Amino acid sequence: MSEFSLIYTHFQHLTHTHQNTVLGIGDDCAISRIPYDCELVSCMDTLVAGRHFVHETCPHAIGYKSVAVNLSDLASMGATPYAILLGLSLPNHDNDWLKEFSRGIADICNEFQVELIGGDTTKSDILTISITALGFIKKGESIKRTNAKIGDVICVSGHIGTASLALSYILGENGHLKHTNSINELSNNLTTALQYPSPQIKLGQQLINYANSMIDISDGLGQDLGHILKNSGVGAKLYLENIPCIDELNDLPLNKKYQHILNGGDDYQLCFTLSKHKFDEFNTLYPNLIYPIGEIVEKQGLELFFDNQPVDFDIKGWEHF
Ligand code: ADP
Ligand code: MG
Repeated sequence: MSEFSLIYTHFQHLTHTHQNTVLGIGDDCAISRIPYDCELVSCMDTLVAGRHFVHETCPHAIGYKSVAVNLSDLASMGATPYAILLGLSLPNHDNDWLKEFSRGIADICNEFQVELIGGDTTKSDILTISITALGFIKKGESIKRTNAKIGDVICVSGHIGTASLALSYILGENGHLKHTNSINELSNNLTTALQYPSPQIKLGQQLINYANSMIDISDGLGQDLGHILKNSGVGAKLYLENIPCIDELNDLPLNKKYQHILNGGDDYQLCFTLSKHKFDEFNTLYPNLIYPIGEIVEKQGLELFFDNQPVDFDIKGWEHF
């Protein structure tokens, strides 16, 4: 199959068409309209087989997750997703694989009204998926990492540590599957957390005019909150028992539990800060949607507490280099 028929078969007309697209797949470039009162928000995330997902992952999940992690970045700014561009480096032309992979892309794009407007396809020894996501936000409304204020409540959008726990169940010491079927033995909620993370688009938008700062949790809560603190020039107190997590994590020894919660990655929940006043207002408007886990303080660094006692814990999120 030629590169062109591959693109035509699997990617053209795959997704919903967006009203802001003037020209989609098929020419040298796509052309889009930016609403006059909006700014364009863009990001890129690359997933490499064997590094970001185990080789045995089903292609539908690979397609879904590679879009999800990008939409999560848009969510963390408060943006509304518009479109993606797909850079695909493939070891071979496996039609069955491509069919399932593109179905995963289509499912999440249609769930969030996102259009696949272009991309590039090449051959390479290692399967690599690089996605650029585009979104819109009203001028000046984006929520950045740089604006956390002393006295802000630190919140997360849901369970933390689930994806890391799921990964620990399927991987042995060497980073490979414990056995060929271990990925299929995960319970539904663990499979969803690891393979089908849900970008918090709606919450990100609801937090506009509420949150002072926001980030999505991809590398671990400790490290990602650390980015907010560093970029805002502030410190934080975290109350560990307030961090929401699934029951399976509560069954672990505390050290292991908080290893997953603070240092595990891949949750794609949002972590954000807002004033006490805005926190109360938001909770009245949208009850039980956000979870307070700490507060922003003047003293730099991250202080951890458990049952009001200070805790010593080594924060070390996912790092590539
Ligand atoms: P060019 O050679 O001009 O760069 P290509 O032949 O690479 O163009 O691509 C032709 C069209 O197909 C373009 O519109 C491009 O955006 C689109 N395309 C190529 N690969 C992909 C892909 N993996 N996903 C979506 N669109 C793609
Ligand atoms: Mg060209």
